[in-house]
Amino acid sequence: MRVLFVLLLAFAASCQSSGLAPATGPFVLVLGTAQDGGLPQIACDCSHCRAARSDSSRARFVTSILLVDPRTNSCWLFDATPDLPRQIQLARNLGVSRAASPGRPALFEGIFLTHAHMGHYTGLLHLGREAYGSEPTPVHLSPRFAEFLRGNGPWDQLVSEQRIILQEFEFGTEIALAPDLSVTALAVPHRDEYSDTCAFRIEGPSASLLYLPDIDKWELWEHSIEAELARSTVALVDGTFYSGDELSGRDMSSIPHPSVCESMQRFEDLPAQLRERVFFTHLNHSNPLVDPASPAAVRVWALGFKLARQGARFGL
Ligand SMILES: [Zn+2]
Ligand SMILES: [Zn+2]
Repeated sequence: MRVLFVLLLAFAASCQSSGLAPATGPFVLVLGTAQDGGLPQIACDCSHCRAARSDSSRARFVTSILLVDPRTNSCWLFDATPDLPRQIQLARNLGVSRAASPGRPALFEGIFLTHAHMGHYTGLLHLGREAYGSEPTPVHLSPRFAEFLRGNGPWDQLVSEQRIILQEFEFGTEIALAPDLSVTALAVPHRDEYSDTCAFRIEGPSASLLYLPDIDKWELWEHSIEAELARSTVALVDGTFYSGDELSGRDMSSIPHPSVCESMQRFEDLPAQLRERVFFTHLNHSNPLVDPASPAAVRVWALGFKLARQGARFGL
């Protein structure tokens, strides 16, 4: 089993490049892979959180990606997490940042937001006057989400002070970032208390990536996940929970997600070249997959699926 695991890890490393080689074309850098509460999670004494506290390599930032186009020295953030300051440092340590200029220049050409749950937008606060005090940064989001930020503090202050410039998108309409680089928002069913929710399809000159950190259930989606896998090269998808009995003492039907076991079962008959496009991300602290040596993680790889890794790059 141990040898198999080492082989699988070697395979994993070959699939997600280390991020140190200079890239010439657009790529996506993974900035985090944890569910909204991060790992370790506040005041949690579970074995995963304890391990993450004692060994920093076991800790994870909240799920987010950075789209980088070295041809124009541009980058776009997808989801602004509570870990944003450390994620910017992670990107800089990997040699990814915009050219330095005086003042408080926008850190990104733009920020794309999936929805208004804690892990996905509260990092915007770091752009405000108490922290970075950013020059205007375009924020791409749905009209309903924009209305929420405009109408509620403290977000409205970021808007009125022009730290962020809200750019409303229409679901299904391609947003061109370069002649051969685009982003399309796809509406996704999820607990939509303050905003609706979306996934993003990022299409580059030679590959495309689906970013879908949260969804209630695959069956409720107006799009077919199988069709999306067929047109994507890489799909970073909701892997919040490994199985349906993971949260003792909580009613998991009030926080629906497709469990990793459910997704693997749904995708098991897909051809291997589609299965290997699936990278599970957005892992809750309770998920055994947060331990890369767990039997659950070994099973995921053995069935032909993958786990997203913080710091990994995907060429587009
Ligand atoms: Zn989330
Ligand atoms: Zn925990």
